[in-house]
Amino acid sequence: MPRLLAWPLCLLLGLFGLAGCASAPAGPAKVPDGLVVLTFDDSVASHATFVAPLLKKHGFGATFYITEGFEFLQDKQHYLTWEQIKQLHADGFEIGNHTKAHKGLPSQKPVEIAADLEHIEKRCAEHGLPRPTTFSYPGYAVSAAGIAVLRERGYLLARAGGARAFDLAKDDPLALPQAFDSKPDSTLEQFKAAIVQARDGKVAVLTFHGVPDIRHPWVNTDPVKFEAYMQALKASGCKVVAMRDLAFYLPPAKH
Ligand SMILES: [Zn+2]
Repeated sequence: MPRLLAWPLCLLLGLFGLAGCASAPAGPAKVPDGLVVLTFDDSVASHATFVAPLLKKHGFGATFYITEGFEFLQDKQHYLTWEQIKQLHADGFEIGNHTKAHKGLPSQKPVEIAADLEHIEKRCAEHGLPRPTTFSYPGYAVSAAGIAVLRERGYLLARAGGARAFDLAKDDPLALPQAFDSKPDSTLEQFKAAIVQARDGKVAVLTFHGVPDIRHPWVNTDPVKFEAYMQALKASGCKVVAMRDLAFYLPPAKH
């Protein structure tokens, strides 16, 4: 349409409230300030018995990264059952992939990485759960082969280690850093310093293991401390979501 005719038409459409004039290509949705992701690794039973009820009370989303590694198959007192994992999904939380056996990806060949991812995908399917679309790296160990396999299998987002918020337009969505990694000696001040980074286009992802984590005390979070973290998060007014929810903000080329 000739430009001279197009402008009056746009004006007319505008008068009738019809959005027909946008000529700029649609970009990704703008990341709001205060966007925080909660992630919980290693399939610990306390995720179902303590964490999920507290998150529901606050109205927070979260991702639970499931592995059948460690003593998952033998110790059903400390590790989640698949019935509990199903319930986490039913409660609206995301179930993500943390591999079959919790092996470090840098020591594995692509075919082994693919098999360990597929194992959790199949276990999800067997229990009527959607195929995971996000991942967390066992031991935070990223590898180029791992990123390639994740991309091939349709994964959109993956969390590694680190200690900073990220920008989805600049960071690789399949190797995203965490802004906070809860350890026994972590403090409320460190937690607040992490969530305050969620601004100016940046997202803060927070990592937890068991609350408590009896079998792995070096990643334990004390339940009383966790309650204080969640209260601080609530008071901050942050929007607390699951990792999968970030797909909405990915640049189109990275979908
Ligand atoms: Zn882990």
